[in-house]
Amino acid sequence: MTLLFAAPDASGALRFIGEVERGAVCGCSCPVCGSALVARQGAANEWHFAHEASQERPECETAADRMLRRLMVEHVQTRGEAGGLSLPPYQQRVAIVRALINVHEDVQWGAQAMGGLQWRAEAAPDEPVAQARLDTGADLHLFVMVGEGQLPPPQTGCAQLVFRCRLPPGSVLRDRQAAEQYLAQHGELAWAHHPDTLGLVAAAQARLEARSRQIYANWLAMADAAGGPATVVDARPPPLFYGPSTRPDPRQAPRYACAPAHAPNVSFTLYRLSPTEAWLLYLLERVGPLDWRTATEKFYALAPYPGPFDGWAQALPPSVGVADLDVGVVRCTGFLDAVTYLSRRAHSTRSGRNPLAFEAV
Ligand SMILES: [Zn+2]
Repeated sequence: MTLLFAAPDASGALRFIGEVERGAVCGCSCPVCGSALVARQGAANEWHFAHEASQERPECETAADRMLRRLMVEHVQTRGEAGGLSLPPYQQRVAIVRALINVHEDVQWGAQAMGGLQWRAEAAPDEPVAQARLDTGADLHLFVMVGEGQLPPPQTGCAQLVFRCRLPPGSVLRDRQAAEQYLAQHGELAWAHHPDTLGLVAAAQARLEARSRQIYANWLAMADAAGGPATVVDARPPPLFYGPSTRPDPRQAPRYACAPAHAPNVSFTLYRLSPTEAWLLYLLERVGPLDWRTATEKFYALAPYPGPFDGWAQALPPSVGVADLDVGVVRCTGFLDAVTYLSRRAHSTRSGRNPLAFEAV
């Protein structure tokens, strides 16, 4: 917890611990409860404000955070008024990751505030401290965050910009000049979200979908030319499911009941063949000493989605896989046979890391 390094004086102005007289004559009061404060400027401890006779309430613990946020707001506001608040370009990666496909495009656009920003210095931590209209047609919500604080979900039509700074050490919080230097050096203005008001994300998505369809089409043509998917399986090593670049701890990975025995942290691909028949394709978890991430053999399953339907165990030909009634899945004979079979028959496919999101497909 940060010690209280600054507090309002009788006029409401923010005073730093190094800028007031020691003791009860400091003239500052608690920004939470309004009680008089004493300035502690001892040699042993970090300088800080304390309540007289230790009368702080539990909620007064938030006073330091509140002062830090207020300082950050003042910092950004001063920069904005001095004309130094040019907004960085907004960047977003658009990606399609599914069986056999891993394509992405980076899109970027500029966004600047039209007119001035409306400031609300006393906003709660999860509320914007300033708002404006952007020249992209979106509404700007500016937040300030200390450390790794989480933003609330964006509102429809609103862009989120955040001024973020890691918690300053107590030594720089003695006076305003040092604190502001720290914020100027370590504070970062970054976009957290911008709605696709210019249609650039949708356009990139459409290009990637077209590329994906092309990749699948080439794939099927190649399989046909080779005399059937079985030949292709022999000719090429089985492709991997693409995972994230940094893998979360498998023990903490979410588990989905609709994908029995799935490996942790993998992508799922849904193939809908008819209104009543859909299959979820995924990598099976290895049991035993082998780590599936390094194992050369990978085993895939098709689970009836969102759960077993009538006749699921006999619905797929043996060339695709064999039903395992105990687990409730079809164990794929070969990954590519399964993908080829399903790609030809599916009228829609979806991929992602959360198979529950495919419910409406
Ligand atoms: Zn207080």
